[in-house]
Amino acid sequence: MKEYIDSIRSLVPTEVIYGEHCIKNNADKLLSLGEHALIVTGKSSAVNGSLRDVLSVLEEGGKGYTVFDRVTPNPTIACVREAVALLKEVGADFIVAIGGGSPMDAAKAIATFAVQDRKDEEVFSGGYENKALPMAHVPTTAGTGSEVTPYAILTNDFQKTKTSITSEAMFPKVAFLDARYMFCLGRNTTVNTAIDALSHAVEGMFTKKSSPETDKIALQAIEMIFSEFDNLKNYTLSERDREKLLVASMLAGVVIAHTGTTVVHAMGYPLTYFHDIDHGRANGLLLGEMLLLCAERQSEKTDEILRAASLFDVHDFSLALSALLGEKEDISREELEEYAVEVAKSKKLPNITYTPDYEDIRKMYLESFNVKQ
Ligand code: NAP
Ligand code: FE
Repeated sequence: MKEYIDSIRSLVPTEVIYGEHCIKNNADKLLSLGEHALIVTGKSSAVNGSLRDVLSVLEEGGKGYTVFDRVTPNPTIACVREAVALLKEVGADFIVAIGGGSPMDAAKAIATFAVQDRKDEEVFSGGYENKALPMAHVPTTAGTGSEVTPYAILTNDFQKTKTSITSEAMFPKVAFLDARYMFCLGRNTTVNTAIDALSHAVEGMFTKKSSPETDKIALQAIEMIFSEFDNLKNYTLSERDREKLLVASMLAGVVIAHTGTTVVHAMGYPLTYFHDIDHGRANGLLLGEMLLLCAERQSEKTDEILRAASLFDVHDFSLALSALLGEKEDISREELEEYAVEVAKSKKLPNITYTPDYEDIRKMYLESFNVKQ
């Protein structure tokens, strides 16, 4: 895996440290961030050895710490505000995020709002200054790649969707990738997060910002994730398989740090907001249709993706995803058409090389679900 970690060193400012016991073995990287850590996590995200490892390094290094373990999936502004108030009360000067995308994204928003506040209604207006408290991130799912991106995705109750906020300062200073923390991760979260990483890599390749360098990394991630499809399906993942998925997810994160995401993520957010469909699953249900749309216009890139996945055609790609994701959700035509109207206005759309219109989006939604009349 070392060669993959080396391949992204110049591409993101985050220092990625990888391997068993990497936190303990690189304690100085954590200890140099400040004097008092706010540890940001969820109820069970850090109950896998990760919190114990972080605390023992902080205690041995003579640092103070406070644990905020109230981040829920799809973090809200209210959750971020609660943590910022605690951070100020205890005088924390750096953040350690432990968890999947939800705690990692909440941590980025906390690190930002600790030094530049916004009114609730202005949180999604953009224009963040390039400053935030320093952060270390410890991913405990292998999917979002948030440990190497400058984005924090929060629930946006104003527009009834999820929206990202961003600034260069939201790149964590250091990311510790230790696959041991994922050994007890359940099947559904393991599958859904792997599919999220796959969608980052595939979407990234069809953006206007993609480059030969990001495509190479994306294809590497696609190959690694598809090589684990059988193990994901049967939920027979060895230590080595978990490591592979964790590194692939980080690589796909590096891709979207450069390219951003596009139509699949834009279409997935209302499904999470209104139907509570996990982020990665929502993407996975839509990804086959996206590839079909892109295949007609960028057959060369589509062929590269299929080769990396060891698949014959786009139909096989959809079948492989369906086999992992199982029965599709029932959603009414009316609802899907309403989402399509909103998604057609998404700022993510112009980022894709071929910008889908309302009809394309509507069709993708209708093909991706069991449509109730
Ligand atoms: P998540 O919401 O962080 O976690 C899903 C569930 O897994 C939670 O219930 C959590 O439990 C549990 N969990 C996490 N790690 C565990 C472990 N090692 N063992 C046992 N349980 C564990 O899910 P996610 O898919 O990683 O993140 C999704 C979020 O990331 C979405 O909000 C999405 O929009 C965002 N995202 C961000 C980026 C980015 O670049 N910033 C990219 C893609 C997606 P507890 O809640 O009990 O702790
Ligand atoms: Fe994602």
